[in-house]
Amino acid sequence: DGELPIDELIATFSVDVPDFPEPGVLFRDLTPVFADAGAFRRVVDALTEPADVDPRAAALGGADGGPGFDVVAGIEARGFLLAAAVALDAGTGVLPVRKAGKLPREVVTADYALEYGSATLELHTDSIRPGQRVLLVDDVLATGGTLQAAIALVEQLGGVVTAVAVVVELLALGGRERIAPHPVHALWRV
Ligand code: IMP
Repeated sequence: DGELPIDELIATFSVDVPDFPEPGVLFRDLTPVFADAGAFRRVVDALTEPADVDPRAAALGGADGGPGFDVVAGIEARGFLLAAAVALDAGTGVLPVRKAGKLPREVVTADYALEYGSATLELHTDSIRPGQRVLLVDDVLATGGTLQAAIALVEQLGGVVTAVAVVVELLALGGRERIAPHPVHALWRV
């Protein structure tokens, strides 16, 4: 089908929404990317093979030619759509990183700042074993606050975030710097 490069494919299906959720913000709506069977397949495959995996992945057991992670963690809510598909693709399990108060058992908690106020992410305490390699997945990397909180949760439990994979990285917001040195695998950098 004369395959488009993945960034052009995402740009083609993504819809820009000005002034959402508030005036002055340009929201990248990726739901049409996920709704198209071919585009969703390409995006999931590309997220499953992070080009930039932390070199520690090999030392921790990744030399078997596997994907460099043992489990995929998706961030509520759009990250869930991707993480489950990536995990199935990679042959791993999947974990939900959830907003406060949703998980029923003992959790670790990380607060992070939003433009107005703050938010909280949680992860079940027993969901990660020490040394387990985690691929964190979300749809968009903006300021990096959300992924920074998710990384903190994984690390509190002794897990190792060997890569962060996102569909879109909003370059102007500096998220990559905020979560350095964790490698970010972004399919469309804009
Ligand atoms: P950050 O914490 O500033 O990096 O924001 C990232 C979070 O906000 C992610 O969970 C995204 O789902 C969401 N987000 C931020 N900007 C956009 C956007 O333009 N489109 C879709 N989601 C966004």
